Amino acid sequence: WSSETVAAVTGSNRGIGYEIARQLAVHGLRVIVTSRDGDQGREATGRLREEGLDVDYCELDVSDELSVRSFARSITEKYGGLDILVNNAGVNFNTGSDNSVEYAEKVIDTNYFGVKRMTEAMIPIMRPSASGARILNVSSRLGRANGRRNRVDDITLRDNLLRDECLSEELIDGMVYKFLDQVKSETWVSSGWPQMFTDYSISKLAVNAYTRLMARRLSTRPDGQKIYINCFCPGWVKTAMTGWAGNVSAEEGADTGVWVVLQPGQPDTGKFFAERREISF
Ligand code: NDP
Repeated sequence: WSSETVAAVTGSNRGIGYEIARQLAVHGLRVIVTSRDGDQGREATGRLREEGLDVDYCELDVSDELSVRSFARSITEKYGGLDILVNNAGVNFNTGSDNSVEYAEKVIDTNYFGVKRMTEAMIPIMRPSASGARILNVSSRLGRANGRRNRVDDITLRDNLLRDECLSEELIDGMVYKFLDQVKSETWVSSGWPQMFTDYSISKLAVNAYTRLMARRLSTRPDGQKIYINCFCPGWVKTAMTGWAGNVSAEEGADTGVWVVLQPGQPDTGKFFAERREISF
């Protein structure tokens, strides 16, 4: 990795995204801070520059197809492509024991389709290199299909999500659309979905499955054009999303992500990490 390496982090005006951007820049990379609000993004970029870091800024709303396309264009024009993409932007509207699905559409659209939109738009402009380009998805243990506290009760769906031979874009998209339909018809409660932060958990379940699916697809690329994709859980982090509850700082939360995305040698792909070790899906 060098100052020629270009990394972009979605939603990096604050929280874990800001910390991932900062730590990547501390490693000597050129980092593009992005945010949906221009003022907040430029302010965050200014703070990082004051630390002497090599950071640029670009506006980006991951739920807006036009914004994603214009981001891809400006990255190509300015840098000739991208080496590292961190899909961090996310929303959650549940707090404490509240499990409302009032914002389910927005949660699924930002957290899952946002990741998909960005991944699809960036893969064609990821630069070939010996170490391989990298994509990192910021996920959550709440998105584990078999989670101890938050599992998917539909056994067929759970098995299909966890078996490589059954995994497909149709399966993942079908799952989230089915859930959104059930939210509209108010029939989601008894359908075997995770019990905690249901819409948020399903969005991360979809991100996890999509990470594995893309890793398999990308693995067929020839040497020199490899792209490695993984996801990680930052832990329960003190940010605006948790109302500053949580038990680790944004700095600690970002650590595993930065460690994964900068793996030297033959990097992992299609894996899920937390606290600098692999965990199960
Ligand atoms: P924050 O709420 O502090 O930050 C979320 C970031 O995402 C903000 O920069 C926000 O921008 C941005 N964002 C939201 N929607 C969009 C959008 N449509 N386009 C671009 N950016 C957007 O939360 P965290 O830092 O805690 O969360 C970062 C990631 O970590 C999320 O994916 C979250 O799900 C995940 N995570 C967090 C955990 C935690 O305990 N905090 C635990 C597990 C996972 P804006 O400022 O404009 O709102």
